[in-house]
Amino acid sequence: MFADKESFKQAYLMKLLEGEGLTLNEATLWDKFSALVILLKEKISMYRAVNRNSQSLVKQVYYFSMEFLIGRLLLNYLINFKIEDLVREGLADLSIDLDDLLEQEADPGLGNGGLGRLAACFLDSMAFLGIGGHGNGIRYKYGLFEQKIVSGNQVEVADNWLTNGYPWETCKPEEAIVVKLKGNVRTDIIDGRLTFFHENYESVLAVPYDVPIMSYDNTLSINTLRLWSAKPICGELDLACFNRGEFNLTSSYESEVETISYILYPDESSRAGRELRLKQEYFFVAAGLGSIVRDYKKRHNSSSLQGFSRWVAVHINDTHPVLCIPELMRILLDEEGLGWNEAWNITVNTISFTNHTIMPEAMEKWPIDLVKSLLPRIYLIIEEIDRRFKEDLKRRFMDDEETIGNTQIFKDGYVRMANLAIIGCSSVNGVAKLHTDIIKNEIFRDFYRIFGYKFNNKTNGVNYRRFLLAANPKLSHLITDAIGPNWKEDAAELKKLHGLKDNSSFLEQLAKVKYENKCRLVERIKKTQGLILDPASIFDVQVKRIHAYKRQLLNVLKIMHLYNKALNDPESLTGSHTFIFGGKAAPGYHYAKTVIKLINALSRKIEQDPKVNKKLKVVFIENFNVSQGELIYPAADISEQISTASKEASGTGNMKFMMNGALTLGTLDGANVEIKEAVGEENIFIFGLNAEQVLNYTRNGGYKSWDEYHANSVISTCVDQLRGGFFENMGEEFRVLYDSLLIYNDEFFVLKDFPSYIDTHKKLQALYLDQKSWNRISLVNMAESGVFSSDRSIREYADGIWKIKYRNVNNLTSH
Ligand SMILES: *Cc1c(COP(=O)(O)O)cnc(C)c1O
Repeated sequence: MFADKESFKQAYLMKLLEGEGLTLNEATLWDKFSALVILLKEKISMYRAVNRNSQSLVKQVYYFSMEFLIGRLLLNYLINFKIEDLVREGLADLSIDLDDLLEQEADPGLGNGGLGRLAACFLDSMAFLGIGGHGNGIRYKYGLFEQKIVSGNQVEVADNWLTNGYPWETCKPEEAIVVKLKGNVRTDIIDGRLTFFHENYESVLAVPYDVPIMSYDNTLSINTLRLWSAKPICGELDLACFNRGEFNLTSSYESEVETISYILYPDESSRAGRELRLKQEYFFVAAGLGSIVRDYKKRHNSSSLQGFSRWVAVHINDTHPVLCIPELMRILLDEEGLGWNEAWNITVNTISFTNHTIMPEAMEKWPIDLVKSLLPRIYLIIEEIDRRFKEDLKRRFMDDEETIGNTQIFKDGYVRMANLAIIGCSSVNGVAKLHTDIIKNEIFRDFYRIFGYKFNNKTNGVNYRRFLLAANPKLSHLITDAIGPNWKEDAAELKKLHGLKDNSSFLEQLAKVKYENKCRLVERIKKTQGLILDPASIFDVQVKRIHAYKRQLLNVLKIMHLYNKALNDPESLTGSHTFIFGGKAAPGYHYAKTVIKLINALSRKIEQDPKVNKKLKVVFIENFNVSQGELIYPAADISEQISTASKEASGTGNMKFMMNGALTLGTLDGANVEIKEAVGEENIFIFGLNAEQVLNYTRNGGYKSWDEYHANSVISTCVDQLRGGFFENMGEEFRVLYDSLLIYNDEFFVLKDFPSYIDTHKKLQALYLDQKSWNRISLVNMAESGVFSSDRSIREYADGIWKIKYRNVNNLTSH
C-alpha cells in the first residue's frame, strides 16, 4: 500500500494539493480528513480494478436492507490495511493528530439499531471471507435524528450528515435506474400471450452512490454498498411543462420525488402507515434489482436470465425489501418474456429472507388500496402469487380454513408482507435458536407444516474487528501478547485465552485495561455532558433502543429499590455503582420517552441526595450510536440484557459486551440462551421467566400484576413512587408507566421478574468484591465470544442458504 512513512506523507500531501489545491497550512481539519479518505478510497479502487480482471465469474450475493448502520469507516480501514501506525506517525510528522481527523467523520445514521447494524456487520464479514457480497439500500438525506436531552426530555435534532459531503461515496449518475410508480395497467393479447403494459406512470430517477467495503487484510475482495438517492427526471416532458408556465406542477413533482430518499423512518417495530414508506421500499428494490439484472447481463455476456439464480443470490433483511419477489417476477415476465413457472422458479431460488420479529403488531402489512394505486402491476403479480399458492394448498389437501387464513397473503384489506416473503423465497431464517423455534412453532406454525424445508436458524453475530479489535485497542494488545495475532482473522482462536484463567498477573492486567477503558469513557462524558463519573465504581450498562419489551423500566425500578434500601441502611450497598443508560426513543413513542424522563429524574434525585450520592450514580448518555457504542461496550462491567423472554429475537449488543469482558445479567431470551450455552451457567447471571412460561401466560392468561404488587412490599414501594411525591416537581409524568404495570396488567412481566432480578443483581454485587473470580469469569466470556463473530454467521449463510464458497481462514492463519 505505502512502502513506508515517507511515501505515505508524499502521497498525502499530493492528495491535499490535487483535491482542493491546498497546502498543509491552508487546509482545515475537514480538508485534512477528507484528503486522507480520498487517498484510501483511490487505493481501494485500484485494488478492485486489479483484481476484477484476474477473477473468474463467481456467484454474487446482494443484501437488501432498508437500514445500514455502518459507523465511521476511517479507523477501521486503516486497521484493515494494517497501516494505522504508519499513518499516525506520518501525520504526526506533519503536525496532524490522527485522532482529530477521526473525529471529523460523520457516523451515518442510516439505521435504527440492531437490524441496521447487523447488515453492516455482514458486509464486513462477506468482504473478509472473499464473498462477492454487496449491500443495497437507501441514501437517506437525513439519517436517524440526533438525540439531545433537555431538562430530562429527549429532543430530536435533524441529522444533516451530508452537509460537508461524504468523502467515502462515489456518485454513479451513468448507472441510474428509472423507477415507475402509479399509473395503470393495460392488458393485450400479443402473439397469443397475455401481455401487460404499465402506462401513465410517474418516473423517478434512482441514482446510486457507492461506498467501497473492504475488510481486514483482504485487498482481494472489495465489495460495494450501493445506496440509492431519488432524483426527478429532467426530461423533455418537464421542459415542455416548464415552458407552458406550469412551474408549480414541475416543482411539486420534484419535491415529491426527492422526499423518497429524504428520511429514515425512526421506528423499527411499529409500522408507519405512510405511503412514503411504501414508496421507499419499492424505490430501492426496483433500483437494486434493475441494476443487478443489467450487471448480470453484462458480466455473463448474455441477454437471457435463465441462469440467474445460479449466479445471483438476493437476501432480504426483514420484510421491508419483500417487494423484491413481485418485482423480480415483473422483470422476468414483462421485460424478459418468460412464462410464469419459469419466472417463479428463478425468483424463489434467487431470494432468501431473514425474519427479525415475532411481535404480531410489528408484522408489516399494507392496505390493499395503497398497493394497488402506487404499484398497479406489482399488485396484480402479488394477487396471482396468492391465487396459485392457495391452489397449491388445495392440491396438497392443506386448504382448511384455518391454514388458509393464517398463510394467505391478503387479509382484512391488507397485504401481509411476511406471508409474501415466505411463499416467494427459498429460505426463511430466524436470528437465534430460540427465535427460530418460536417462528416454527408459534407465529409461522402453518407455514412450517407447508414449507418445513425452508426454515432454518442463523444466529446473529457482530463484526468483532470493529467492536473489539478497533474499539478496544488495549485489550486487543493484551490478547495478542497472550495468544498471538491469529484471533484477528479467526475468532475461534480466542478460546486460547482459557489457558490464562489461573494466571493472576494476566487477570490483573485485564482488570487494569477495563479500568482504563472506563477512564476513557469518563473523560468523554465529562467533555460532552459535563458529568463526573467514578471509574472505580461498577459500570452497570444498558444501551439499546428504548422499548417496553427491552424493559429499561425494570432496571430503573431496581435502582429505585437500591436507593430506598440505602436510605434506610447505607451499609446495604456494597461498593459503589454507576448505572449507565443510553438509547433513542422513537419520536412518537410516548411510553419510551417517559422512560427517558424517568431515568433522568432518578439521576437528579440521587445526585442531590448526599446520603447516597457517593455510592450511587445514574447517567443517561445522549445520542447512543455506533461511535458511542465503541466507547461504551469496552467500558462495561455488567451487560444488562433483560428483555421479556421470547421478545428479543437475538440481540447483538449482548455479544459486543461479552467480547469486551462484561458479565451478562439477563433473561433466557434471544442469543442470551446461546451465550449461556457457550460460557456455562456459572459464568452468566440469568433470572426471570423463560420463554415457554411467558408464552404460556400469553396464551392461557393467569398472570395478575396486582398479585405481585400486593405480595411484595419492595415492589409496591417502588411502583408507588412512580405516582408522585417521590420525584420533585413531578406530577403525573410517570402515570403511563404506572398504568402499564398495574392498570394494563404488565404486558412485559416487569413485576413478575422483579424479585429474581434483584436477587441476581445482588449476587453480582457480591461477586465484584472478589475481583479474582470476577476477572476469571470476564476472561471466560471473552474466550467463548468467538462464536458470535459475524464471520461465523456469514459462513453459515454461505453454506446453508446462498450455496457459495468462501475463503478458508484457517489456512491463512497458519502462515
Ligand atoms: C449493537 C447495536 C444495537 C443493538 O443493540 P441490542 O442491545 O442488541 O438491542 C443498537 N444500536 C447500536 C448503535 C448498536 O451498535
